[in-house]
Amino acid sequence: MPDHDFKSPRLFVSADLAEAIAVEASADQLNYLLNVMRLGETDAVLLFNGRDGEWRARLHREAKKRLLLVPERRVRAQTPPSSLHYLFAPLKSARLDYMVQKAVEMGAGVLQPVMMQHVQAPRLNRARMEANALEAAEQCGILSIPDCREMIRLADLLRDFDPARRLVFCDERANEASPIDALRAEPRRPVSLLIGPEGGFSAEERALLQACDFVTPISLGPRILRADTAAVAALAVVQAAVGDWRAGG
Ligand code: SAH
Repeated sequence: MPDHDFKSPRLFVSADLAEAIAVEASADQLNYLLNVMRLGETDAVLLFNGRDGEWRARLHREAKKRLLLVPERRVRAQTPPSSLHYLFAPLKSARLDYMVQKAVEMGAGVLQPVMMQHVQAPRLNRARMEANALEAAEQCGILSIPDCREMIRLADLLRDFDPARRLVFCDERANEASPIDALRAEPRRPVSLLIGPEGGFSAEERALLQACDFVTPISLGPRILRADTAAVAALAVVQAAVGDWRAGG
């Protein structure tokens, strides 16, 4: 992203974005822009909503508690969502926050929680997951908003799996062959990447996965990684081997 503006604050808004059509900043955004960043009316911010690309906007203070953001120029056209789906067992909240943020930064377009036998935190706060995904999107410069899905069971995921995709499954028991070679050995298809829970996959789940012809197991090396570390490592491997870290995406 060589010509990207990294200096101006970048905010998600839900309103439509079009030239000169002002958007009112939320109370949090007002506080962030005026009190934390100490911006004034001559400063610019970047706005995106997941539909209309990225806009450079000016601040206009209408009243003490009313700040308008006025789009001036579209600086980037909207891009389609990433085809990389990240499938994961829910973790306890602090690790889950981290994992969701990192998965978005690493380019996941869909976040799909999957219920498995050894999950240690079976409840999932979807609003919190969405807030983390948005914060990461603001931070890392992407234009489409990651889709945070409802939790599903592993058996249902496999039964309804889109045959046009490949399910890459990080298996802590896989033999330690190169994950890059394993990914590149197959015809290129959009990837869904699955990481197991802190307690690992059960024998039954592993058998279920291994029986599917759309599944590719990969190893992440000789050490057992925590699920949140495994997420970042696996997403890096997939992006480098078959994803958008390669020239041309
Ligand atoms: N408690 C389990 C480890 C679970 S680690 C045990 O001791 O065996 C959580 C998840 O991270 C795993 O289910 C797997 O998806 C991924 N993972 C961790 N280390 C890995 C490795 N070396 N290779 C492949 N996947 C790994």
